[in-house]
This record gives sequence, structure tokens and C-alpha cells, in this order.
Amino acid sequence: MTDQPIIECRDLYKRFGNVRALEEVDLAVPPGITGLIGANGAGKTTLIRILLGLIRPTHGQASVFGTRVASDPAGLRARIGYMPEGSCLPADQTAADFVAYAAELAGIPIAEGRRRASETLFLVGLHEERFRYLGDFSTGMQQRVKLAQSIVHDPELVLLDEPASGLDPAGREQMLELIARFREFGMNVLFSSHLLDDIEQTCDWVVMLDDGRMIHSAPLDPPGEADSVSVEVFGDPQPLIAALAERGGGFTVEGAVINVEGAAGDVFALVRDALETSGSSVRRMGTRLSRLEDILVAAVKETDD
Ligand code: ATP
Repeated sequence: MTDQPIIECRDLYKRFGNVRALEEVDLAVPPGITGLIGANGAGKTTLIRILLGLIRPTHGQASVFGTRVASDPAGLRARIGYMPEGSCLPADQTAADFVAYAAELAGIPIAEGRRRASETLFLVGLHEERFRYLGDFSTGMQQRVKLAQSIVHDPELVLLDEPASGLDPAGREQMLELIARFREFGMNVLFSSHLLDDIEQTCDWVVMLDDGRMIHSAPLDPPGEADSVSVEVFGDPQPLIAALAERGGGFTVEGAVINVEGAAGDVFALVRDALETSGSSVRRMGTRLSRLEDILVAAVKETDD
């Protein structure tokens, strides 16, 4: 890692009575978009709440931007945005009022807060609906309001707890695209998910938790490393195979699935071009899914042994 870490944890433990939520977590997360992956109960929310200073670790320490959370939780929270998991919006407030209130809580003057609320709701695609009551919003719209309130004070880091949870595939895609756009604003992101696919689409770095332990923390796509895309088409795969061969792409065929390999960043464009010229329709396509899945399975197996 060349950049200074924005999040660091050293020998972090958290117990709730007899429940071991986090154990021996040592972590250094660089700037950028980081995915926090783990099954239900793995400790993702607990870690996020410790980073926010909302709960204290039983042992060990956590730092954000090089400052120990315990030494200045309020000061750090002014620089961090937080999108909690689950339903937590007041049904009888409009989106504009609620997001403006979040800005006010972050110390922004009222008029400025209203302006920012309007801008932020525009960014998340809810400008037209900003004067509607939150109680009438769909789950997808509520998730976007929660996202808007987390960034209204222009934080340097946002911690998003399962932002795509409960969304249909289109809503999920929109949410991930929005998160990816935070890069343009120079905002750092840590977002949790139990879906590898979400993380692979969006993140530069991935942290995996399993049963309270950190089992993997690494760049998602190390520069220069080979990349792969698995694709399955409707009907005869031969035209696609021929188009790939014509372009000199390296690939293997396993039954109906064609695995295409090449330099990171190039493979997707290669497959897209080959699909276009062959006129094939995609039944299923996965980017690097197997690689991260392999890491997860191997890491879990190692901790079990
Ligand atoms: P999910 O995706 O289901 O929210 P998670 O990875 O976020 O899972 P946590 O919510 O951090 O997991 O929970 C980790 C463990 O700690 C779980 O066993 C959970 O039941 C327990 N836990 C979390 N908060 C508390 C609490 N306040 N009191 C008791 N146990 C808790």
C-alpha cells in the first residue's frame, strides 16, 4: 500500500456478553472505495459502529485519518458520513426536510443546508420527489435518501452499511453506480455487503470478515494482474468463440461457459466487442467472480483448519 491508510485497526476485539463480534482484527485500508464483505453476523456493522465511535471496542484500537477514534469521536464524525442499515427514516417528513435536518445536525447553517439537501437529492435522483413524505417512498427511494443524508455535509469518508440491501437488481445497479461516482468527488467509501458481486463491481480494495475475524484485506484488482470474464450465450456459442479467436483473445471453453482471460481492464472490452460482432445474446456473464469467491473459500477453509 503506497497511500497512508485512512482506516486502521489494531488488535481489535468486541464482545457483547458471550458473543464474540470481532476478534484480533488488524487492518489498514487505503483511500478509495473499499468493500467490507462477510455473511450475516460476521461483524461488519460492529466494525462500522466502532469506526464511528458509537460503540467502544472491548480491546485494541481503531483510527480514522490517523486519529484514534476514542480520542476525538465527535471531531472525526464531522468528517465522516454514515448510512445505517435497515429502515430508520421518519415517515412524516419530506425528503428535503430530512436531508436539510441532517445537514443542520452536521453544523451547516439552515439556508445552506437546504441548498445542499436539494443538490444532494438531485445527485441521488430524487429531485422531483424531494417534497414527498418519506413514508410514501419505496425501499429503493428510502435507500437513496439515506445515502443523500450521509453525504450532505461533504464528508471525506462515508461508511455505508449494506446500502444495496433489499433492492431489486435495477435498484442495486443504480445504488452501486452512485457509490462508484463518489470517486469523482474525492470521497472515500467503506461499504458493507454480503454479496461478492456488489463488491467486485465497485471497489478498489476488499476486506473480508468471517465470524468476527479479518480473513482477507487486499486490493481487489492488483495492477497488471490477469483478469477473467466468464460468459454464457443463448444458442450456439461458436460465433462468439470465432470472434474471440479472431481478436487473439485467450479463452477456454467449459461446456456452455467461455472463460476469457487477458490483461486487467482489457478483457471486458474484448468480450463486449466479440459479442457485438458475433451477434450473440448474453445469458450470463460474470466478472472475476470466481477469483474473489476462491479467495473467500480458501480463507474460510484456512481458518477452519
Ligand atoms: P448483518 O449483515 O446481519 O448485520 P454483520 O456482519 O453486520 O451482520 P454484526 O451486526 O456486527 O454483524 O454482528 C456481529 C455479531 O455480534 C452477531 O452475532 C450479532 O448478533 C452480535 N451483536 C451485534 N450487536 C450486538 C448487541 N448490541 N448486543 C448483542 N450482540 C450483538
